[in-house]
Amino acid sequence: MKRSMQPLRSRPAVPPIYQTSVFAFDSLEQVDQAFGGEAGAFVYSRYGNPSVQALEVTLAHLERTEAALVASSGMAALAIGVLSLCGQGDHIIAAQDLYGGTQALFQRDFSRWGIDVTFVDALNVSRVEDAIRPNTKLIFVETISNPLMKVADLSRLAAVKRGFGIPLMVDNTFASPVLCRPSEWGADLVMESLTKYLNGHSDVTAGAIMGSKGLIERMRSLHTDFGAVTSPFDAWLVQRSLQTLKLRMQQHCRNAVLLAEFLAAQPKVMKVHYPGLPGHPQHALAATQMSAYGGMLSFVVEGGCYGAAQVIKRLQRVDFVPSLGGTSTTVSHPAKTSHRGMTGMDRVRLGIDDGLIRVSAGLEDGDDISADFAQALAW
Ligand SMILES: *Cc1c(COP(=O)(O)O)cnc(C)c1O
Repeated sequence: MKRSMQPLRSRPAVPPIYQTSVFAFDSLEQVDQAFGGEAGAFVYSRYGNPSVQALEVTLAHLERTEAALVASSGMAALAIGVLSLCGQGDHIIAAQDLYGGTQALFQRDFSRWGIDVTFVDALNVSRVEDAIRPNTKLIFVETISNPLMKVADLSRLAAVKRGFGIPLMVDNTFASPVLCRPSEWGADLVMESLTKYLNGHSDVTAGAIMGSKGLIERMRSLHTDFGAVTSPFDAWLVQRSLQTLKLRMQQHCRNAVLLAEFLAAQPKVMKVHYPGLPGHPQHALAATQMSAYGGMLSFVVEGGCYGAAQVIKRLQRVDFVPSLGGTSTTVSHPAKTSHRGMTGMDRVRLGIDDGLIRVSAGLEDGDDISADFAQALAW
């Protein structure tokens, strides 16, 4: 059915949601323009959609890169980014403590496709150098690691990759571009799970990868072929959430500092992992590389799994949620969630104690959160 739309006589203050899977053309000439990639000419939403493209422009600006590609999840963005650079017979060097999904992709799936991954202690840059082979096509690290909050030295890693001409890709999900922009420290590709801080309201699953125009363009065909697209509505929600990203990050960080200091003083707490504490092994690095120390922390409660279970059961306001970056403070238990696929021995080797509880500091009043942990630790 042909319907002509009345042209608007004023602009909407908020960009509309282009909730359409396909676009209509008035002439063959228009079709040619759209398929020729002319700016503003769209064909089919798996190839591109104005609401998604608007988000890509914003994200590239936030991460200070030339271009961005938005995908259906953080994992989709990561997989597309890595697979656009690596194929059968290639080799990747990755940090040994990684998000569980990334670990599974690299270890379980890539080995089937003939992509070899060496996991190294990326905090020790010489280990990364030692692992380089003639077929190494990528170095992959997280800005702040999960769940022990180790901070990667991006400028030293960038110096290594520059020496060898190997791209450096950084998962910046725990930091967000408010705290750290890896491209400014020399990273070629930056990946974000938009599901976490960038959307920040626990109601969207999406991801993005940012980099030079050339690198991002190489990913577009893979992205279209995999069909790992984000819905226009979800893209619009993330775009809306980005307006408060800086304010939210400030409050997440403020609450994380308060809670880290509070927990460090509790007799039942054996250790607190937070880059903002002076005792953290990369405290000085975090101070130079990040504008604040982040909203994520973890701590070891005495009593192993039993102790962790007591705390989690007793928390009143703080939910057990195996994700992060939402408005409410949440806890997770790495040994039973993200790292449950590992053997107990491997967890011990990485320093993931059975009593380790990970906290995503929310936006509430900081004293309320500390009070909840105080009563939960009184078992
Ligand atoms: C959540 C997360 C991912 C994966 O993102 P999804 O949106 O869940 O696919 C990758 N890396 C880190 C550090 C994460 O926290």
